This record gives sequence, C-alpha cells and structure tokens, in this order.
Amino acid sequence: MKKLIAVAIAVILTLSAVMCAFGAPAYKGDLDGDGKVLAGEARRILRMSAKLDPQPDRDSEAFRLADVDGDGKLLAKDARIALRISAKLEPMMTNQTADFSTITEGKLIMATNAAFPPYEYIEDNMIVGIDAEIAALIAEKLGLELDIQDVDFDSIVAGVAGGKYDMGMAGMTVTEARKKIVNFTDTYATNVQAIIVPEGSPIKSADDIATDGSMKIGVQLGTIGDFYDSAEPEDWGFGEDNVKRYKTGPGALQALISGKVDAVIIDNETAKAYVAANEGLVLLSEPYTEENYAICVDPSNAALLDAVNGAILELISDGSIQAIIDKYS
Ligand code: GLN
Repeated sequence: MKKLIAVAIAVILTLSAVMCAFGAPAYKGDLDGDGKVLAGEARRILRMSAKLDPQPDRDSEAFRLADVDGDGKLLAKDARIALRISAKLEPMMTNQTADFSTITEGKLIMATNAAFPPYEYIEDNMIVGIDAEIAALIAEKLGLELDIQDVDFDSIVAGVAGGKYDMGMAGMTVTEARKKIVNFTDTYATNVQAIIVPEGSPIKSADDIATDGSMKIGVQLGTIGDFYDSAEPEDWGFGEDNVKRYKTGPGALQALISGKVDAVIIDNETAKAYVAANEGLVLLSEPYTEENYAICVDPSNAALLDAVNGAILELISDGSIQAIIDKYS
C-alpha cells in the first residue's frame, strides 16, 4: 500500500514537473501565479468585475484566471468564490491581528453629510441610512467603535486627506479628481444621476435642458452633479451659467419648490426619497450617468484601506451589503 502511494506521488510529481516545463496553467483566481489565492486577489477580481480595473479581454489569460467559475462572465460572484478559496489558505481579515491604526485608538471616525437619504439622514436625532449601517458592520469587523460626524459634503475629501477623519462615507462617487487626493476602497454600491422637475414642467429629459439653453439647474455643491452639469456643453454639461449650487441636497430641492431653479440633478436613490417626501415633484426616468460609490480613506493609511477593503469584501460576499441596500429601496 505504502509503495502504491509512493508511486502515485512520484507520478503526480513527474506530471506536475512536465506541466511546469510546458508552462502549466496557473489555477483560477491565482492572478499573480504564486500558487496561492489570497484575499488581495479576490479584491482585484471584484474590482475587475466592477469595471474599476480595465476589464481584461475575454480571451486573455487574466480573464481566464479571474473568471473563477468559468461561466464566461466576470462577476462579483467570482470574487466571492476566490475569497472562499483564499479563506482556506490564509486567515480571514477579521481574524488577523489588526496592523492598521486610526486617528484615535479604538475608534473609527467617519465623516458624512446626513442630508442624503437613503444613504444618510437624521432620524430621532441619530444618523441612520445605508452608509451608517454598513459602516457599523465594518467597524464591528475591525473591532472599532464607530464615530459618525455630520459635516458639509464638500469638506469630506479634504478632511480625510488632512487626517481629520479616518474615512469618508457619504454616497461618494469615485472620481479621478478625488482619487488624486484620497484613496478609495472597493465599490459597495452603484448609482445613476437623476433629474427632478416640478409637475407639469416642459422638461422631459436632459436633452430638453440642453436644447433650451436657459434653464437653471440646482445641484449640491461639490458633488458629481455639480461637476457634470456645470461642464460646458461640449463636455456634456449645461454650462457654468446654468447651474446654481446649494450647500445641501434639500437646499437645492427647496429652490426647485420655490421656482428658483427649473430642475435638480442629484443621485437617483436620493432623488427618489426627496420626490416621495415632497408633493408636486416628478422624477424623470432618464438616468444619464453610471457611477460607483466607495469609501474614501487617508492616502497615507494604506493599512486601514486594506482592512476596510477586507471588511467590505466579506460584507459583499455574505450578502449583508445587498440586504441593507434592499431594506432601504
Ligand atoms: N454621489 C455624489 C458625489 O459623490 C453625491 C454625494 C452626496 O451628495 N452625498 O458627488
């Protein structure tokens, strides 16, 4: 029997040596070919599937390795499977001894702008919403006490980069401009921009605003809506002169209700919540951008970024994030 096992092992060893000589195929999920699937690789697959990394060409080796279940599609599911494989090979992030630091030991200070339902808003004097709930789970996984601070949206990125807050979580869209200042975690939700108009408005689409040329659009200062809409028409915007900026989303909405602007352009889920809470407003069903939400972290704290990413990946894998999003929609 022992002899048989020894022969079998010898055959396997010879076979693998021969395969190596001919360039043995690396196994699925092992993107760097080091013979192990690690959580970092699962994260990369997740990024590829969310199209944050350049999506590998379907016929490429990278695609073959990242498509862990071999169904010809690169989906978050592949990252989940890779994470399960990696969990057997390395301790999960939550079991690792924390090697990251935060501004105040034991605390995770998060900056948000709590006027952005359903992601963050105030109820019974507390900041609640999708981000608040996800952040609570992240803090729990990292063994930290969550401290949410309500600040102006346009001060979050600078505050995080300046070491005032550990992270910013505010339905924040990943943009190239922000990426120059802060680090972003993996995506945890996606969004489209939407248009709110008063009932009976002649505006039926973004094209109507562009064609008219004199309509005023209300946006929230420093947001992606502000950025896109104030761009010149050749860059798909409506031009600086047509945009009025407000410190908060509800501020822009108030301007729409009192007739100071003709439309408000804001993130879709927030637009839905505003329209549901205010009579006489209509949401135009022509979302015209697609974007990813992520948490921003101080670029000098790579260890914290890794730890938060590990927690996000687990929360995506076990369905917790989707369950929270579904609860609010
Ligand atoms: N997603 C938009 C942005 O990042 C708006 C976010 C917000 O107002 N909280 O600019």
